[in-house]
Amino acid sequence: MATKIGLTEVATDVFELRLPIPFEDGLVNVFLFPDGDDADLLDCGMNTEESVEAIHSAVRQVGAKRIRRLVVTHIHPDHYGAAGVFAGEGLADLYLHRLEVPLVYPRYIELEHLVAQVRTYLLVNGLPAEEAEVLSNSQRALSQIVKPVAPAVQLDGAETLEVGRRRLRVEWTPGHSPGHICLYDEGEKILFAGDTLLPELSPNIGLHPQSTPDPLHEYLEGLRRLAGYEPRLILPAHGRPFADAPTRVKALIAHHKRRLEQFAAIVSNGERSGWEVALELWGVRDNPYEKRAALQEGLAHLQALAVEGRVKKFVTPTSVRWTGA
Ligand SMILES: [Zn+2]
Repeated sequence: MATKIGLTEVATDVFELRLPIPFEDGLVNVFLFPDGDDADLLDCGMNTEESVEAIHSAVRQVGAKRIRRLVVTHIHPDHYGAAGVFAGEGLADLYLHRLEVPLVYPRYIELEHLVAQVRTYLLVNGLPAEEAEVLSNSQRALSQIVKPVAPAVQLDGAETLEVGRRRLRVEWTPGHSPGHICLYDEGEKILFAGDTLLPELSPNIGLHPQSTPDPLHEYLEGLRRLAGYEPRLILPAHGRPFADAPTRVKALIAHHKRRLEQFAAIVSNGERSGWEVALELWGVRDNPYEKRAALQEGLAHLQALAVEGRVKKFVTPTSVRWTGA
């Protein structure tokens, strides 16, 4: 069943709704789980009129009157943006992993401290001052499409949640974000993969002031665990549903292994900042989000190499430098 707002029944009583976003491939997939007058929602798109109205309309179309539970995979604006519209006092209950909770306030409400922290992070990693200023302030634009709300339930991972008429297990898969979660239907082998396992894109895995200290290793470990479940159907947050998790996971792991070798080779030629390494691999980028993502992704790989003892990392208050071990 497909309708004009892109509402599709992707499994029994599971509806995929595709919402507009200004990045990635232009769409984020959220999922509605009707249960009588109630519907539960996995992720909620950005806080824009068009996106919020599409969700209201989808809730009506599946025959529900209200949203009961909102589960959010992680607090990036395309997944969490409208949370404060749908959840809170007298509204739906928000379920969020506890490692996402402390990211919300500095990122979307009181930004000054994080902007300053990010500026320092960019400077010590080798960005020119002018660019560091622009990039550290780019966070401000995102806070306008996010209406935050505190969770009713903080998840640890491994909980079983009643979502619609299904029971779904919470899979904590850090890397793309510290408290990123997937949901897994063990009986039907359906994986709601969020941004962790995507059919076409490789999600940004970055080392930055709000990340965990070794996000790439954590990400790869999560991928291996998910592949081991051999899900029959994977419902990602970006792109179309797909089936062969082990093959896709193999490709993603191979991609990161290749990158690790490239970064190791670059720093074996002499000491570099993270920014110099990113420029050497990817060249100059104009879009500020792409610049930041390239630096963060580069640093996540360098950090993984340092953890493995394959590169050396030197830190002072004013610089972070990398070199071959
Ligand atoms: Zn994301």
